[in-house]
Amino acid sequence: MSRAMFTKILVANRGEIALRVIRACQELGVKTVAVYSEADAAAPHVREADEAVLVGPAPSSQSYLVGARLIEVAKRVGAEAVHPGYGFLSERAWFARAVREAGLVFIGPPAEAIEAMGSKTAARQLAMAAGVPVVPGNTEGVKDAAEALAIAATYGFPVLLKAAAGGGGKGMRIVRTPDELAGALDSARREARNAFGDDAVYLEKYIEGPRHVEIQVLADTHGNVVHLGERECSVQRRHQKMIEEAPSVAVTPELRARMGATAVAAARAAGYVNAGTCEFLLDRDGQFYFLEMNTRIQVEHPVTELVMGLDLVQWQIRVAAGEALPFAQQEFTPRGWAIECRITSEDPENGFLPSTGRIEYLHLPSGPGVRWDGGIEAGSEVGLHYDPMLAKLIVHAPTRALAIARMRRALHELTIDGIETSRGFHLRVMDDPEFQSGDISIQWLEQRLSSLTAPRADAATLKLAAIAAALVAHEERTAGRTGSADRRGDGAPFAGATPDRPSWVAEARREGLRRS
Ligand code: ADP
Repeated sequence: MSRAMFTKILVANRGEIALRVIRACQELGVKTVAVYSEADAAAPHVREADEAVLVGPAPSSQSYLVGARLIEVAKRVGAEAVHPGYGFLSERAWFARAVREAGLVFIGPPAEAIEAMGSKTAARQLAMAAGVPVVPGNTEGVKDAAEALAIAATYGFPVLLKAAAGGGGKGMRIVRTPDELAGALDSARREARNAFGDDAVYLEKYIEGPRHVEIQVLADTHGNVVHLGERECSVQRRHQKMIEEAPSVAVTPELRARMGATAVAAARAAGYVNAGTCEFLLDRDGQFYFLEMNTRIQVEHPVTELVMGLDLVQWQIRVAAGEALPFAQQEFTPRGWAIECRITSEDPENGFLPSTGRIEYLHLPSGPGVRWDGGIEAGSEVGLHYDPMLAKLIVHAPTRALAIARMRRALHELTIDGIETSRGFHLRVMDDPEFQSGDISIQWLEQRLSSLTAPRADAATLKLAAIAAALVAHEERTAGRTGSADRRGDGAPFAGATPDRPSWVAEARREGLRRS
């Protein structure tokens, strides 16, 4: 039975994803209730919602993570449903259950499906039972170093130790030789205990040079499950995604259909409802291995929305209200190419150290094919209480090359003054010939990091570079008048690098232009 669309939804999150959910609700004609901490009193999500309720002090453990309080607020204001966003309470089965028991609708999967996929070892067992290929490894926590050593010997080194309760790349250790194993197990356990309160660690074969390719699934309460193709998320630092795209250069229509069918099978095995994502490693031979299922909307969902032409967050809400998915699988073929860059308050030149302060000035990119999903504005205070991700810049274009060109253009338009951000880092990635070739693996960024984050020139050097650029331009003009063979005929005033014009000259010109 389909129920009517909700009239009011409580958004149990902050930042860009809270705004994203509020926007989806506004388009569906649903009222929204924001919750906020003392640190977020002036945040955009508070202003954009129809109502807003203060739920506690800045630390999330005393505000955004206090499930009982959020449920109490939802009931008090007359909301019928709760959208958890990502992070915070989104993958806590107890919260999904408590929402349900309070007579409200949790906009996400049933608590049982979250539980089934919540532990990596349980998810591996479930996947294997459903015929889904998993990375070779064990399916239970290892007892001690001796047992780990025996298991590792059967798969061969290198191996990867992983926290069963893991997430965010925590509690993971690559072990290349037997003598490193005991120490790595100790430190993985310690990290897992601190991060998740559970020190169970298991072991997988470490796959060399794979891609991270994930499949978006969408399921309703009537038994319909479709997949929405893949996202390529191989550009990672410390096992954390930084840039995502859809589709993937490594996925053919045939492979997409196979990986998609596998993801649908895993979702069905878990009794899944709502939007979810099956993560896979794809090796160089086209073999893919299930890693885990994320039982929530993901940060990178917009790239799928752009190439598939639907609103995933609206469908989360519609499915939660009981609506049946009207789609046939064959309707979903990616159109064009989408890329997302995560704009974080981190300083790439200083080991991605978190940067804090007030955003003094903000200029957002716009124009064809550009989307900004952000949670900041001029005047926003960026502190250390929450995730450093400020916004996502997403572009859509007919081809990958055009999407990269569009992202470069959009990143150049973006100005955030007052704090350090990842903007310049993303520009360098877009300019990187290896990234442009698409031939990258999950190890690519780490290997390339030092050159991608080398300090930029300071103001004095830029001034010198601008003078040098002016000289080069003058020489070119003079050469043009004398009919020299190396005259450039394209007339482009600020074209990029050429063999005889290094990219720093072009960069210096742009910088000079921006500053003047
Ligand atoms: P988390 O839940 O902590 O994010 P995942 O299992 O999703 O952990 O893995 C995070 C990332 O670590 C993957 O995207 C991939 O880059 C890398 N990774 C995970 N398992 C393996 C493996 N067996 N071999 C090589 N790399 C792996």
